[in-house]
Amino acid sequence: MLQSAPFLLVGLATLLGLLVGSFLNVVIYRLPVMMERAWRRESEALLVPAGGSAAVAAEPFDLVRPRSACPACKAPIKARHNVPVLGWLWLRGRCAACGAPISARYPVVEALTGLVSGFLVWQFGYTPDALGALVLTWSLIALTMIDLDHQLLPDSITLPLLWAGLLFHLVAGPRPDTSPFAAGLADGVIGAMAGYLSLWLVYHGFRLVTGKEGMGYGDFKLFAALLAWLGYQMFLPILLLSALTGAVTGVALIALGRHARQEPIPFGPYLAAAGFVALAWGEPLLTAVPFLRIFP
Ligand SMILES: [Zn+2]
Repeated sequence: MLQSAPFLLVGLATLLGLLVGSFLNVVIYRLPVMMERAWRRESEALLVPAGGSAAVAAEPFDLVRPRSACPACKAPIKARHNVPVLGWLWLRGRCAACGAPISARYPVVEALTGLVSGFLVWQFGYTPDALGALVLTWSLIALTMIDLDHQLLPDSITLPLLWAGLLFHLVAGPRPDTSPFAAGLADGVIGAMAGYLSLWLVYHGFRLVTGKEGMGYGDFKLFAALLAWLGYQMFLPILLLSALTGAVTGVALIALGRHARQEPIPFGPYLAAAGFVALAWGEPLLTAVPFLRIFP
């Protein structure tokens, strides 16, 4: 039925995307806090002598506990105010209990996830490709926001994303030429290795020459994950597109005085954006810019 009613399918995908966007907001906010607590617990286990008291609070903190609350007044957020986008609009961006402003980022992430999900399903239809594209894109949205906030790409997202790409090829089997995943399993394995090794080499080369660290290991893992899904054929398009947009944005931010020259600029968002372009418009891009197709 969904196959014969494309508008219904796209509408349902948009709705699902709004709900997933709401969950991504939770991941974006809580995952880095959970990682920081785990690091602190580990270093205390090493540093505090046995029998000494640990300072880390013991109350559980994960993706579901404690319930969402206003950061200003700690009032729990009611279910109807948690409805994606609409809840924020209904409250006019302010906490119902204390009136503290709620960041517009939450509805923006929800709306973006909804629109992009609808677009992908419109593009790829009722196919395994649409499912793969959704999983990949949702992960990229979470990684982008966490990297912007913390200069960090969590292993707990990048590594499962890489394995999920290889598993997708294994389960879905050969895809048609029009599919963004047409490259298949073997090219995905080669892509993952090429993606990791290339940025690893750039990183160590840059460090030898300048003594500075230009990016993090998370960038290697994200590039590896993207190429596990899309195949080594997308190596050059993603690398050039992300380096180019990253350099242009970096220079513009420094020129506008919005960014100090010495501060590291997170590379993850550019990799993620270039990966999304390769996912949605990979073939047209290779056709428009033929020299990108050096790997047949
Ligand atoms: Zn409040």
